[in-house]
Amino acid sequence: MAKLNTEKIKQDFPIFNQKINDETLVYLDNAATSQIPKFVEEKVRDFNEKERANVHRGVHALGLRATNQYESSRQKVANFIGANNAKEVIFTSGCTDSLNLVAASFGEQNIQAGDEILVSIMEHHSNLLPWQQLAKRKQAKLNFIEINSDGLLDIKNLKSKINSKTKIVALTHVSNVLGTINPIKELTDLAHEKGAIVVVDGAQAVGHFPIDVAELNVDFYAFSGHKMFAPTGIGVLYGKKDLLDKMQPYRLGGEMIANVTREGATWAEVPYKFEAGTPNIAGAIGLGAAIDYLQSLDFELIQKHEQELTSYALEKLKNVSGLTIYGPQKSNGRIGVISFNLKNIHPHDLATALDLNGIEVRAGHHCAQPLMASLNTESTVRASLSIYNTKDDIDKLVSSLHEAKEFFSEFR
Ligand code: PMP
Repeated sequence: MAKLNTEKIKQDFPIFNQKINDETLVYLDNAATSQIPKFVEEKVRDFNEKERANVHRGVHALGLRATNQYESSRQKVANFIGANNAKEVIFTSGCTDSLNLVAASFGEQNIQAGDEILVSIMEHHSNLLPWQQLAKRKQAKLNFIEINSDGLLDIKNLKSKINSKTKIVALTHVSNVLGTINPIKELTDLAHEKGAIVVVDGAQAVGHFPIDVAELNVDFYAFSGHKMFAPTGIGVLYGKKDLLDKMQPYRLGGEMIANVTREGATWAEVPYKFEAGTPNIAGAIGLGAAIDYLQSLDFELIQKHEQELTSYALEKLKNVSGLTIYGPQKSNGRIGVISFNLKNIHPHDLATALDLNGIEVRAGHHCAQPLMASLNTESTVRASLSIYNTKDDIDKLVSSLHEAKEFFSEFR
């Protein structure tokens, strides 16, 4: 059976050509930001060295080339996520920006006093705060879907919370703490039955398994480039065209208008209506290159690799006494975002100890404080996997956890 060639993939990423604290780098903070392959960096550099110009403005050769590249990236994104029309793809600065756009534009126009907005308890603050504050401004009610003891969305609870007053359901596709994959299609059907629209935070999903927004039938889908091998500062908001057409722009300025007079203005068509000012052109081109890179690998192999590695990591971690894993304990229905705590060691101390061995993990509340509260903890350590991680990386993590346990036990 074919396998992902992790050795070869690692060579595509220059970051691994260095030692961290005199140790081989084991990068396990992919849920925060993935690394960037040489291929993507070269495409961005080529653009800056050979084609740099503003888009949609000049009629000169460089301007046209830049515009063609920028628009071709938009088409690549549309194909990659299964959008029917490239006009449904808006370039933003990231997932946070995309979600704020929906709340500020669709939310501001459509939410009224007494309406309900439904989110889950596992949301990243980026998919919570825009709705929480919108609800406050509009005197609407914010409801939470709870999770069960396995770290899965409680579908019974979801069904009890969704009703004819629900106007927006905003849910993460994959939890950035628990790794849980949520049943988006099931949710979309339920929400649409009640007349609500569905906003999905895809920050942790895109790049790990194929996304088909048309098949999922979501109304909005948001994600960031930097978690899927593209540069920072570029992201996407997918939206159904009929909804985007009716929405007001949320930032005003150059390149988003049809006509401006002293008295007023009319707006450009989508997606330009939502891309005021000079966009992150090189970032968008980098995102297109990251999609090319991902497509040069086989998605089935990527999924298989990440699932096998997740399963291996969960098994190995379970053998570390005193270690609590939050979220699904088996590798199905989840991705390789694994949060845990080791008894009597503060997550920050543990992450620092791991760093001394060249292992980069995240410690903290992961911008999900309501979830932390429901898990009865303030913070966790999070190891998150990607295409270049190997069983050796997991073995090194586990042996370093044992080492840290021994080290910290001396202080008790
Ligand atoms: N949602 C989720 C689930 C995330 O993990 C993140 C990034 N940690 C975001 C939203 C925000 O992404 P960004 O910071 O790239 O805007």
